[in-house]
Amino acid sequence: MSLESSLFFEEFSALEEALMAEALREAALAAAQGEVPAGAVLADPEGRLLGRGRNQMLTLADPTAHAEIMAIRAASLAAGNYRLTGHLLVSTLEPCPMCLMAAIHARVGQVIFGAPEPRWGAAGSLMDLASLAGLNHRPLVRGGLRAEAARAMIVSFFMERRGRGGISGWGSPD
Ligand SMILES: [Zn+2]
Repeated sequence: MSLESSLFFEEFSALEEALMAEALREAALAAAQGEVPAGAVLADPEGRLLGRGRNQMLTLADPTAHAEIMAIRAASLAAGNYRLTGHLLVSTLEPCPMCLMAAIHARVGQVIFGAPEPRWGAAGSLMDLASLAGLNHRPLVRGGLRAEAARAMIVSFFMERRGRGGISGWGSPD
């Protein structure tokens, strides 16, 4: 198993595609609530969906309520275990440092994301967290699954909110 992160991985399984479709559904729910559209799901090693999450920072007034954190919390609760060894986290956007580190704390085995997040991404954009020396656990991280769908949601969200203005820094929840 490669330890390298990849922003644009090419091949994904049918199961991974199906899980991303669920994550994109969560992102759409976030957008409908006025939240930046990001969604995530967490599956156990058999591929069973264990937890879902979507951005809820505004709704919950919680700066840590990112989609991936919410999915990790839901899955840990469902599993009755704070360790999610061998599990798979699927996120519509490249996780930020907080979320990727949460996945590492949970011992998640693999992380798959859709679109790179130029401003906060911790899988190669802002930094490559999983390549840090000294980590005792490194998930396999692959990006690029349904990247266009995830990015289109973000772009239209910010276009609607900011009018015809630019979309630089589109990943910022500000
Ligand atoms: Zn995050």
